[in-house]
Amino acid sequence: YYRRSWSSESSDSVISSESGSNCYRVVLIGEQSVGKSSLANIFAGVHDSIDSDCEVLGEDTYERTLMVDGESATIILLDMWDNKREGEWIRDHCMQVGDAYLIVYSITDRASFEKASELRIQLRRARQKEDIPIILVGNKSDLVRCREVSVAEGRACAVVFDCKFIETSAAVQHNVKELFEGIVRQVRLRRDSKEK
Ligand code: GDP
Ligand code: MG
Repeated sequence: YYRRSWSSESSDSVISSESGSNCYRVVLIGEQSVGKSSLANIFAGVHDSIDSDCEVLGEDTYERTLMVDGESATIILLDMWDNKREGEWIRDHCMQVGDAYLIVYSITDRASFEKASELRIQLRRARQKEDIPIILVGNKSDLVRCREVSVAEGRACAVVFDCKFIETSAAVQHNVKELFEGIVRQVRLRRDSKEK
């Protein structure tokens, strides 16, 4: 993939030197229109509350270094799940390459919530022996009047699927920073428990 650099400092060195410990590939999956690209754009953004520069590595790939709990972490965020042009292989690819996953549904769309469960099962099947960090993301929390999936249902689903849960709004940028910090924490928890 190619790199369009927004900052003066090249991050080639970052990827190669930190690929072991502090650089995580995070993949957005979920039904179309649930807000994956909107979340990715905030991550990429033009937005002050995530305080660092972002690099666009390709049309569907973003890189950003965050400080989380006093330790820096580089996230490479992949938003290519809906890429029809590339065909079905891209989804198999997505299922294989992530260090962590954000399974997104819309709280205004029950079918997308059911799809999220299906994707969790597919992911478990694709990566059988691995304990992969996953956050179930109920997006569009700003659309209170159109809600079809309750917070309790989202939380219960995450318990069943043994993953974390958060509701976000890309539209009003609620909990988006917390989401990306959260996935870093999930990866670290597993890393730290392996080191013991
Ligand atoms: P994707 O297909 O999963 O990448 O979804 P998009 O990010 O393209 O979003 C689909 C539509 O939902 C767009 O019109 C977005 O503006 C809208 N959208 C995304 N996130 C939110 C949100 O949190 N709240 C509201 N109200 N609309 C959203
Ligand atoms: Mg999209």
